[in-house]
Amino acid sequence: MQLGPKTARNRFWQTPHAAGFGTERPSHMAGYRAMKAEGGWGVVFTEATSIAPEVDKSPAPLARLWDEGDIRNSRYVVDRIHEHGSLAGIELEYHSSIGFSTEGRGLNARGVIPVAGESGLPVGYAATCAALELEDIEEIQDLHVKAALRARDAGFDLITFHCGHAASILAHFLIPYYNTRTDAYGGSFENRARFARETLTKARAALGDSAAVGLRFGVDTLDEPLGIGERGMRAHGEAPKFIAYMDDLVDYWDLVIGGFDWGLDAQSSRTAKENHEAPFVAHLKKHSKKPVVNVGRFNSPDTMVDVIRSGQCDFIGAARAGISDPFLPEKIRTGRIEDIRECIGCNFCVSRDVAHAHQICTQNATIGEEFRRGWHPERFTQASNHDNDVLVVGAGPAGMECAMVLGKRGMRNVHLIEATGQLGGCLNWVTKIPGREEWRRLIEYREFQLSKLNNVTTIFNTRLDADEVLDYGAGLVVVATGSRYSRAGLSPYDRRPMDFLSALGERLLTPEDVLEAGKPVGERVVIIDTDGYFVGPGLAEYLAKDGHAVTVVTPAEALGHYTKFTMEYRRLMLDLEALGVDIRTGSTVTGATSNGLQVLSHGKTSDQAVDSVILVGQREAQSGLYRELKGRSAQLAENGIEAVYRIGDCVRPNFIADAVFSGHRLAREIDSPNPAQPLPFVRERRLIDATEDDFVVGGRATSPLY
Ligand code: ADP
Ligand code: SF4
Repeated sequence: MQLGPKTARNRFWQTPHAAGFGTERPSHMAGYRAMKAEGGWGVVFTEATSIAPEVDKSPAPLARLWDEGDIRNSRYVVDRIHEHGSLAGIELEYHSSIGFSTEGRGLNARGVIPVAGESGLPVGYAATCAALELEDIEEIQDLHVKAALRARDAGFDLITFHCGHAASILAHFLIPYYNTRTDAYGGSFENRARFARETLTKARAALGDSAAVGLRFGVDTLDEPLGIGERGMRAHGEAPKFIAYMDDLVDYWDLVIGGFDWGLDAQSSRTAKENHEAPFVAHLKKHSKKPVVNVGRFNSPDTMVDVIRSGQCDFIGAARAGISDPFLPEKIRTGRIEDIRECIGCNFCVSRDVAHAHQICTQNATIGEEFRRGWHPERFTQASNHDNDVLVVGAGPAGMECAMVLGKRGMRNVHLIEATGQLGGCLNWVTKIPGREEWRRLIEYREFQLSKLNNVTTIFNTRLDADEVLDYGAGLVVVATGSRYSRAGLSPYDRRPMDFLSALGERLLTPEDVLEAGKPVGERVVIIDTDGYFVGPGLAEYLAKDGHAVTVVTPAEALGHYTKFTMEYRRLMLDLEALGVDIRTGSTVTGATSNGLQVLSHGKTSDQAVDSVILVGQREAQSGLYRELKGRSAQLAENGIEAVYRIGDCVRPNFIADAVFSGHRLAREIDSPNPAQPLPFVRERRLIDATEDDFVVGGRATSPLY
């Protein structure tokens, strides 16, 4: 596919997305991005990149392209992408909000939202912004041009200017909600588009044919209350006009939706199915003569073919599909479609991005570990102790992953033993929560992989006790027996035991009682949530849809607080509100009778009559089997058991992504000196007297010495 002066080898486009490395950790960035290129993505972008110190986004570890040092680090990443024959792209951003820059403090003196008048718009947290003077406008355009030249010098093939997510200055000039100017840069469509036209005209003139230039354009800022309604950009309003107006200045269009809350673009599978942006973007390609990229949770090769053939777009854009499986294009090319590790749309990756943390993924334990641990998602070395038989007890996320990787590492025999009749552990009930159905792909991918491994045997309906494990005949034992929700437990907020709830007798239930065992739930339900993620609100939705009168009591400031990081929170709360769920935050249950609860809410105690109470509280590690085995060390030795390890929730209940990672990590390092402890990983830091050997797995600098 031709993109101005550049040619992409296929139609797979890794869209710009943050991974937590920025330009300060170029080896991490290179490892991460180059793996996408190796996996067959014909176009690989880095991420939204700050073009000048005045738009620094620290503490977010995002890329910067300010100076010669940034060019050098970026060139290193670009070269690694080029080694695999892919085009390298960069998204240049003049982030048009006041921001919380910790490093660039004071530099952002312009106040960047383009408003008229002396006193600017309030932008939250007591801050306002100042209007841009005409010379500011020229200077900011110049910053774009210089950054584009630096991008060219770093070797980028594609240079995208960010005009999406109502985040950048190009978008802010364009959108009436932000632009209240009355001069030549405000008011009419042509005036609001003037900044973009002038900026791109100058950049193109400076770049010549050295790189392709594109716009990432937010075509719809969506309806209120989540969006900004008619004062925003509308896909069936000004968006086609803008595309036609700017088409001569771009080599490609990267179309997205959503406003400042980019969670509406990167929606989770709870609210968005595949190609969910089609209603906003499908009609737009006809307004352009240039190639168009779409995103929208593309996962299935059939959908990808459909959207290309139907003329909706020219490139399949994705971030998450490539995080979950960097080798998706290559697997399609080689006809290994069943091997694709499909994204489940949980947005756990997004949660780390929002928290400015290192990229991780629920499906793909290797993501972000390319450089620092040397993990490759598709390559597994034979374990040096492969002539061992391994018994893995429990086939939840941790056990499945561990058995699969042990199988791929060529262990002689791996037996995966599961008490129930199915793979998946907690996922079997978690996926009954509304909107979590797609999480079953975590099971399906591993089920298929396990079925292909001749050295792995899965045995169901067998609950092993310690005597049976001792007698089993395996040399290595991995306990992956998971966790269960407690009927009492401690609240993480006040650390008080909630054993008084036993007064409720049969009326007291856990999430597993409801969703796994199918125990009946009465009409009036109170969910006590101290868990803080999707289970409490998910159960509320499940039961409210089933006609129950649901109240949720949580001591937290926000119900399901972690869903703020997965960018699901606002939609979730609106949905619960529409279902009539009574949400009481900042509230605690202080006592219980056989049919009622005392609820302390903002200093007042009230009685609440209940038919059922569901405690979404502490989870207890099911570590009994592990402890008993460890306590019988003499018998372990007598029975030829060299080591007993534990992974996943039975170590400590945690996110599913962590259970998968812990199973993967143990199997990757099953032949290390002490597999129970993770091997040191490479940190990317300034090192005095550094040599290349300091930055390789197992290298000099990572040696603990003592
Ligand atoms: P994790 O997330 O750590 O994988 P889960 O709780 O999801 O944990 O899964 C643990 C799995 O282990 C469940 O499927 C459970 O049935 C199984 N299991 C627990 N104890 C035993 C046992 N003694 N023998 C076999 N399987 C077990
Ligand atoms: Fe997909 Fe979840 Fe992985 Fe993100 S964390 S790529 S949403 S599976």
